[in-house]
Amino acid sequence: MSGEDWIVLLPREAKELVERGHGWGQLTCRISGPDRAALVVALSNEDSDRVPVATDPGHFLMTADFQPVGHWYAAPGELALAEYFLVRQSRELSFDEFQKFVPKAERPAVGKWSIAVTYCAEPPAISDDETLPAWSAWSVTDSAVRPIHFDMREGKELVDALDGLWPARALSSKRVLLFGAGSIGGAAAESLASYGAGEIDVVDPDRLLFHNIPRHVLTTKYVGMKKVDALARTLGEAWPECQVTPWGIDLVTHANLVRPLLDKADIVVCTVDGVEARRVANYLARRARKPIVFACVLGDGGYGEILRIRPLPEVGCLECQRRRLQEAERIDLEPTLDRGYGTGTRHNPMTAVGGDLHLMGQLTAKITVATLLRAQGELDQTIVDDNLVIALRPTPGYSDPFDTTRVLDQKWYRAGRPYDDCPACNAT
Ligand SMILES: [Zn+2]
Repeated sequence: MSGEDWIVLLPREAKELVERGHGWGQLTCRISGPDRAALVVALSNEDSDRVPVATDPGHFLMTADFQPVGHWYAAPGELALAEYFLVRQSRELSFDEFQKFVPKAERPAVGKWSIAVTYCAEPPAISDDETLPAWSAWSVTDSAVRPIHFDMREGKELVDALDGLWPARALSSKRVLLFGAGSIGGAAAESLASYGAGEIDVVDPDRLLFHNIPRHVLTTKYVGMKKVDALARTLGEAWPECQVTPWGIDLVTHANLVRPLLDKADIVVCTVDGVEARRVANYLARRARKPIVFACVLGDGGYGEILRIRPLPEVGCLECQRRRLQEAERIDLEPTLDRGYGTGTRHNPMTAVGGDLHLMGQLTAKITVATLLRAQGELDQTIVDDNLVIALRPTPGYSDPFDTTRVLDQKWYRAGRPYDDCPACNAT
């Protein structure tokens, strides 16, 4: 069982018990030989009874064998230094050498193997900016003691880890209303959570079906469940600091239920397909004076388009932007949304591929987050223009703004002014 490529995982609660403990104790682990991995699930303080420590119930080792396999020991800083050189020189200590650092170390019987986790309260520094790790793990036999891999759950999953590197804390108070939990919406939701958005309300009446799977962030284990419920579960596991609330309702027929969500939202993201649903989202967001980001894939999967409409007097709504395209006698690909390319019915399969849809979802999340952060004063998140067309599988011969002919060509353009007679823009 002994070997250098084992890993020992320590839950946060175990770390705290060791730090407050009396110098040594026993460990119980869940161990998988094929994965060469051990998860500490209980420990004692000296020879007290072992107490269980909180672990992630979904962790893959939680179904592995349960074994009393080792000990933890407080250790002097010299052991951290010894480990540093042992790892670099691929060497090991004899058990007697190890015991000089750790007098309490218990020698396994001949032919037996155990794990040791050591903790140095004051690990030495090896340079001005590098202190050695306080924690180490060891594979222990009666003859040899070798360093093995070690990892520890230090803190929370997101905000704590990113604090100071990314303004996750500013985003943790933001609430996003997301229309559509399809391929683009699902990818957008995942990205929003990973950026640190505090709350996402997701509105979509559809269930996940088998034919959705090749394009969706959700997996077959959720087929048959409403997409919003499956997303809430998936994101709840992956990003527990993001509160995802599922609303399995239709935006068009339940606008009365959607309005209160709009009032609470800081920004709206619309990834639904179909001209009617986009029109309703446009109207509701405009009336609530909330910024809205529309995302879709148009023209048989050829182009991705993101339209950001800010609630400013000089910016026209989605309808106004479309009308301007039509009046300029330019091609308007919006009606292709109603041909089922987005919904992917069996009779009219969606032509966009999963990766392209996820890319659009992630770009949509980035634009949404940048809009929120810019409003908080983060100047490096400024987006000058509002609207983006990006070529995914471009068709030659289309007119501006769909005249980008090489894959990933991008066109940014400014949202035009509202029309005086636009019902949405003049509804307030
Ligand atoms: Zn308008």
